[in-house]
Amino acid sequence: VDGVDDVRIALTAEKRERHIIAIGSGKGGVGKSTLTANLAVALAASGIRTGVVDADIYGPSQPTLLGTQDEKVVASADKVLTPTSSAFGVKTLSMGQLIEPGRAIAWRGPMVGGALTQLMEADWGDTEVLLVDLPPGTGDVQLTMLQKFRPSGAVVVSTPQDLALIDATRALDLFGQAKVPVLGLVENMAGYMCPHCGELSDPFGHGGAEAAAQALGHPFLGRIPLSIEIRLASDAGQPPAAQDTPQGEAFRAIAARIAS
Ligand code: ADP
Repeated sequence: VDGVDDVRIALTAEKRERHIIAIGSGKGGVGKSTLTANLAVALAASGIRTGVVDADIYGPSQPTLLGTQDEKVVASADKVLTPTSSAFGVKTLSMGQLIEPGRAIAWRGPMVGGALTQLMEADWGDTEVLLVDLPPGTGDVQLTMLQKFRPSGAVVVSTPQDLALIDATRALDLFGQAKVPVLGLVENMAGYMCPHCGELSDPFGHGGAEAAAQALGHPFLGRIPLSIEIRLASDAGQPPAAQDTPQGEAFRAIAARIAS
């Protein structure tokens, strides 16, 4: 990207410490959880030991996306959790596994911070990259994440419309203020791929995130099309990144740009 440093997380054989990468968005429903799950699957497939912390307390969806919803989370006597393993080689822990399914959560800040800490300080073993699916916006979970766990980098997801991009700018600003390197911006639901003829159209516009990234001096990591196959595969716990399709390739290309 012109004029923007490559801030990719480099995992060298000698220095395999754990990197935390926060995935954020300005608002909900833009595909942040879908991106997180698929980046994790793509990173794991490329040989990087990868875990996912699902910190989205308002809509924990990683167990569904990675097909681990039937796996029980085990805690040791001293309350250290053991992450569940998905069929795609990704370890996961989710707020959704700490509460009963379908229960609304009305937690105050300290409880949320405590739950996040329990997920982050679980027995992640030799995990090299821990992706954290943050709740949308800039609240308690984000602050605890930034202050206590100091991510190595952050990825922000947005859809192409102006309104979503304004929210995304706020999320980028939060990471900037906390001096967390922004690895880049991803545009999701960019162009609709017709399931019948494969033609692309642009229900939410096109290119907005790339222009915003450029204007703000952040790398643009790529775009994922709005595609019914992504939605169906995600709901079925079959991440598109594990499939040999153009959608899968789009996720894999972004993963290759954030860590190698
Ligand atoms: P967020 O985490 O930002 O709230 P999700 O990842 O949960 O968003 O996605 C919201 C909904 O949109 C889900 O039903 C998901 O399957 C769907 N979705 C996300 N990205 C795409 C895409 N590129 N194409 C089609 N559906 C998508």
